Amino acid sequence: MSEYIASIGMEVHAELATESKMFCRCPVAFGGEPNTRVCPVCLGLPGALPVTNKKAVNMVMRAALALNCRISECCHFSRKNYFYPDLPKGYQISQYSDPIGHDGWLDIPAREGGLKRIGIRRVHLEEDTGKLMHLPGGGSGVDYNRSGVPLMEIVTEFPPDISNEEEAKEYLVQLRQILLYLDVCDGKMEEGSLRCEPNISVRSAGQKDLGTKTELKNLNSFRSVQLGVKYEIARQIGVLESGGEVRQDTRGWNEAREESFVMRTKETEQDYRYFPDPDLVPLNFDRQVIERAMAQLPKLPLSRSIRYQEEFGLSAKHCWQIAEDREWSEFFEEALALGGDPRAICNLMISDFAKLLNAEGLTPRRSRIGPAHLVDLTKLISEGAISGRIAKDIFHEIFETGKLPSELVRETGASQISDPAALEPLVRKALDENPRVVEKYKSGQTGAAGFFVGEIMKASQGRANPELVAKLVAQELNKA
Ligand code: ZN
Ligand code: MN
Repeated sequence: MSEYIASIGMEVHAELATESKMFCRCPVAFGGEPNTRVCPVCLGLPGALPVTNKKAVNMVMRAALALNCRISECCHFSRKNYFYPDLPKGYQISQYSDPIGHDGWLDIPAREGGLKRIGIRRVHLEEDTGKLMHLPGGGSGVDYNRSGVPLMEIVTEFPPDISNEEEAKEYLVQLRQILLYLDVCDGKMEEGSLRCEPNISVRSAGQKDLGTKTELKNLNSFRSVQLGVKYEIARQIGVLESGGEVRQDTRGWNEAREESFVMRTKETEQDYRYFPDPDLVPLNFDRQVIERAMAQLPKLPLSRSIRYQEEFGLSAKHCWQIAEDREWSEFFEEALALGGDPRAICNLMISDFAKLLNAEGLTPRRSRIGPAHLVDLTKLISEGAISGRIAKDIFHEIFETGKLPSELVRETGASQISDPAALEPLVRKALDENPRVVEKYKSGQTGAAGFFVGEIMKASQGRANPELVAKLVAQELNKA
């Protein structure tokens, strides 16, 4: 089999997390009774006039800046004309020749380590369509609740930089986290607020021109994006290997069967007859406004993650677990500012803290635990005041009550026993009660010492300092 190169372009639509729609004041929400959030504007009734939602414009500008785009100083809305029942006006208000952002890029972690830069061609603002629904009794209905919801479209550069399914998924992972960081989209792929349509082509290694591409739809999870792109690359190679030609199809993804199927075959590119929307005034971006927005952008997840790796020597996986979520990483950084040890804080966050938050469906800020609690607890452990076992119990309790760990230890006396005089009687008792294990140890099975450590930890209800117990057990066993 000859070598093939795959090229994957990504077109992502993100519904903006605004209160109201793009050109009217209808609220934005998911679900609900069909056609309850509509008005003459988003129903496309004759004579209704659209008014631009400034917050949506601002969100797209911020996202474009975070994606290293250049901002068009002046751009306007165009009408993209086509007929479909989910589009009541017969055209979608979109942007054509002058998108808000253009010529940007996004870095993703590369398979072979390091980073790979993915070019971004354009970031523009448009409106969402309604939704067709197939009714249980037969026939179809249209729900216009989604009609006119602000939508951001992000398109990668051509020719594409992405060349396999992992990069396609990683691109989407990074993009989604950036949008969440900026608070411009809720990123819910399963609800369709973040939708991804990759286009895929393959060509043999010696060939210069790109092959014929197909477009994939209905991918509603990272997993289906990865599987779908992988499937489509293999399918196209199969077609070429058997001497066939790839057809320029739009294909759907069957989640259950994990295969793509033809939705429609494109003969020619549709002519949308774009023209500037005469009802809307052009958008102007002042240099100062752009610069101010740029200065206010938060540090983005991947660069935070890389910094944590470099500065604290933590694993890439753990750093990403902390950095991918903005609240989570700000919490971490605040704990470090309070003098917390990076490794200890990170471990506590991604284990016990994450588990309890998940169980309660909470985010860090909505819990009773603040960065100071974590710093306090990790210090108690590192100073030897409490054992890891006690720390676990304490963590549960402070999660419930919001008390500081050191306060709790003082109140309950639950501190670690690090006094040899207090532990020696326990050691002797354990040895006396288990002469056969002592024999085992003496016959060379030194692992038997661990049994005694366990017994003494139990007897002290986890409060004994485990290292000290191990030392005392060894001393006692070697003495006898
Ligand atoms: Zn409306
Ligand atoms: Mn679009």
